Amino acid sequence: MVTVRQALGAFGEQRVVQDCHCPRCKKTRTLVRLPPNFKCADVICDFCGYLAQVKAASTKQLDRLPKSILGAAWAPQFERMQAAIYFPLFVVLVAPTEDYSIFYLSADLQEPEMFKPRKPLSEKARRAGWQGFFYDMQAVEGRAVRLR
Ligand SMILES: [Zn+2]
Repeated sequence: MVTVRQALGAFGEQRVVQDCHCPRCKKTRTLVRLPPNFKCADVICDFCGYLAQVKAASTKQLDRLPKSILGAAWAPQFERMQAAIYFPLFVVLVAPTEDYSIFYLSADLQEPEMFKPRKPLSEKARRAGWQGFFYDMQAVEGRAVRLR
């Protein structure tokens, strides 16, 4: 069973690989999706090896980024930040009409303040103790560019 959230994520990755140029080598249709269990990135350019993450979010407003966007696991993100490793981020916003927009935030414009840990999941949760994070997009306001 695919959850609503997984379907939204898959839609976002599909839009990026079909609509976006590779930001590094500028070729079209060279971005491809990585397998779901690949941890640090969601798409790779099969020409130049460029890696990026893709996040999709539901919204009513396609022309501006939401204040926060749900991220993934906090522990590996925290370790990467400590090693000063950041990945470029595509954000796909999807409206109830299924219209969408795509924003891009390069790795060098990211900083630790935009990654905020969430509370660990409760003892009763299926993944008890697991901790996620969200992207605080206000911390990087004005830095993302709209691609579509
Ligand atoms: Zn490329």
